[in-house]
Amino acid sequence: MKKLIVYTDLDGTLLDHHDYSFEPVLPVMDRLKALDAKVMAVTSKTVAELEAMDLPFPAPSPSITENGMVRIDFEGRCYVAQHYEDIIAFIENLPSQYRQYFIGFNDMSVAEVVQHTGLEEAAAMLAKKRIGSEPFLWQGDETALVALRDLAQSSGFRITQGGRFYHLMGQGDKGEAIKEMSKDYASLYKEHHIVSVALGDGPNDAQMLGVVDYGVKIPNSSGHDFEVLNPAGSVINAPEAGPRGWAAAMSDLLDQLELQL
Ligand SMILES: [Mg+2]
Repeated sequence: MKKLIVYTDLDGTLLDHHDYSFEPVLPVMDRLKALDAKVMAVTSKTVAELEAMDLPFPAPSPSITENGMVRIDFEGRCYVAQHYEDIIAFIENLPSQYRQYFIGFNDMSVAEVVQHTGLEEAAAMLAKKRIGSEPFLWQGDETALVALRDLAQSSGFRITQGGRFYHLMGQGDKGEAIKEMSKDYASLYKEHHIVSVALGDGPNDAQMLGVVDYGVKIPNSSGHDFEVLNPAGSVINAPEAGPRGWAAAMSDLLDQLELQL
């Protein structure tokens, strides 16, 4: 017997890039429910942001948030690579040659987060409720940033670059979090063969599409293609962007798998 677990990015993947609707996925979501498949969000958003969203599956338990740094399992237990207080303590104790150029979410007022992210005020408040990573703006030069990266690394942290924000976080990533989640799922269904699927539309989803049995690439609205390097399973190209592509690719995959389910 096979058991499906589905990991999905939100913006531009499950949710329409412009109006955030997920209407087109509802029929295939019913099929997934009938198969007792588990569907969850894997996102850069915070748990607080996820809780405030309208989604076609239960959240945030289970979910993977803050770019893989926070994982809430099937029983609602929360795993964090580095706790936010420790991240903030590391920042506060930075030598001034780094600290003066570092402007994190924790340093910003809600109004400043609004100004730098374009989020609405309510959303900015939720984005500030962090558990395992700190987005920051860097106002220093590249040399100082490289040195900061090394310092972070030697203290058990890591710096990644998003769009205009950098992120200070613990070790691990979305792919690692997915592997842990799939392991938990397999231990809940020992007699089943677990089939994992992930869907995403951006370069920061490449790694999660690479660690599952079926990685579904949703064409993104900016037209930037990305590559999934050394995928563990198959990579599928969805025929359309957003939730329409999600529904079409998932429905095809279910047709294909149902023969064996
Ligand atoms: Mg996306």
